[in-house]
Amino acid sequence: MAKLDGEIAFITGATAGFGEAIARLFAAEGARVIATGRRSDRLEALKSDLGDGCLTVTLDVRDRTAVESAIAGLTNEFAEVSILVNNAGLALGRAPAWEADIDDWETMIDTNIKGVLYCTRAIMPGMVDRDRGHVINVASVAGNHFGPGGPVYGATKSFVTQFAMNTRADLIGRNVRVTSISPGMSETEFDIVRTGNPDANFYEDFKPMTSDDIAQVLLDIVTLPSHVNVNTLEVMPVAQTFGARLVHRGPSKGA
Ligand code: NDP
Repeated sequence: MAKLDGEIAFITGATAGFGEAIARLFAAEGARVIATGRRSDRLEALKSDLGDGCLTVTLDVRDRTAVESAIAGLTNEFAEVSILVNNAGLALGRAPAWEADIDDWETMIDTNIKGVLYCTRAIMPGMVDRDRGHVINVASVAGNHFGPGGPVYGATKSFVTQFAMNTRADLIGRNVRVTSISPGMSETEFDIVRTGNPDANFYEDFKPMTSDDIAQVLLDIVTLPSHVNVNTLEVMPVAQTFGARLVHRGPSKGA
């Protein structure tokens, strides 16, 4: 018997990176998978690989009405979602707070925060009714550690973890699990999206994690005995560690 027989996984951002790898691994382990994202051509390619066990839904998670109607319209064999992976997300830019583009901030807030809220709010009632389910939010180490060049991205990811854990508190007495996973540097399309440069090669000269690494971690989390809840989990490549204590010496740069 495959590890995820009988599970139905709704995965946001399944057209690339972590989400696509999670969809492929979960399907290989017997789950029925609802793969979502904005790029229909990529969803079609995924569906042709995964077959009838995969339902694709072209979906922008920023669109609340579209999220609600996509979930309400799931066909019978996919309706009882037992695993929600709130993965769709992005970082835009590396500018400091006083120079960043406010439109970029709003896009990150709408995708990384509101998208997670809309999907959770639409799918969790069914999990509560069936007294069975697992919600996994993909946060980031950027939400756990302070650093320059991403004030709003990091803040959205802190939100994701805080929301997951407060939701878990709401779920006292219910057999619904909630996990927030915070990955470190992983080679996906993330940095291409962040910089707008298709040739961006941020991962040169060190060994980052891969999408398959993260998919494996999620599989491990969801296949633990159903009474075991991984609350928060941070995962990094060995090559990545933490910043040194920074101090600026000398006169203010603004003088
Ligand atoms: P990718 O850019 O490779 O994939 C991002 C996915 O999110 C795509 O499938 C994209 O699909 C989807 N997405 C983006 N915006 C929307 C939207 N408005 N509606 C629906 N789907 C959307 O990046 P990753 O796989 O790396 O990123 C996945 C998650 O992991 C993100 O939340 C990211 O913040 C987080 N993360 C990534 C890290 C890394 O180093 N790579 C580290 C820590 C966290 P489409 O464009 O087709 O809509």
